[in-house]
Amino acid sequence: MGTKGIAIVDMDVGKLIGILNKAFSDEWLAYYQYWIGAKVVKGPMKEAVIAELIQHATDELRHADMLANRIIQLGGTPVTEPKEWYKLTNCGYDAPNDPYVKAVLKQNIKGEQCAIMTYKKLLKLTEGKDPVTYNIVLQILQDEVEHEEDLQAEMEDLEDLLKVHGRK
Ligand code: FE
Ligand code: FE
Ligand code: MG
Repeated sequence: MGTKGIAIVDMDVGKLIGILNKAFSDEWLAYYQYWIGAKVVKGPMKEAVIAELIQHATDELRHADMLANRIIQLGGTPVTEPKEWYKLTNCGYDAPNDPYVKAVLKQNIKGEQCAIMTYKKLLKLTEGKDPVTYNIVLQILQDEVEHEEDLQAEMEDLEDLLKVHGRK
């Protein structure tokens, strides 16, 4: 850890590490939700949805990596025990027990909307106080906004397709 790098953080570093570990837990759960969703999903437009879910899983894992690096930089330790993810998560975990494509998309849209709100709050919290964390959070937020948009576009395409076939 760099002492000056930490000294310029204009907020309680211990508290910040705790908040970053909550987001870190979210990212692992989001990663797994996408990853397992891509394995089990069934229904029309399956191939396009699987490609999107896999891409998002990769992004969530990268977010976890970015947060872990920042936590370590601040002198903290990223959550080492997966059981803790469930205790610390902001957005929770939705198991894709209904593998129908619409149900999986709906769960992941909900997850992204929670992620957007979480990172918006973190952005506000770090604004003018910790530019390095702020920048990382901003990059992640940009991805989460894109994720929501991608999933809602898939949902629209799917609904159009189902309408053509007179199905729900
Ligand atoms: Fe993420
Ligand atoms: Fe996301
Ligand atoms: Mg995408």
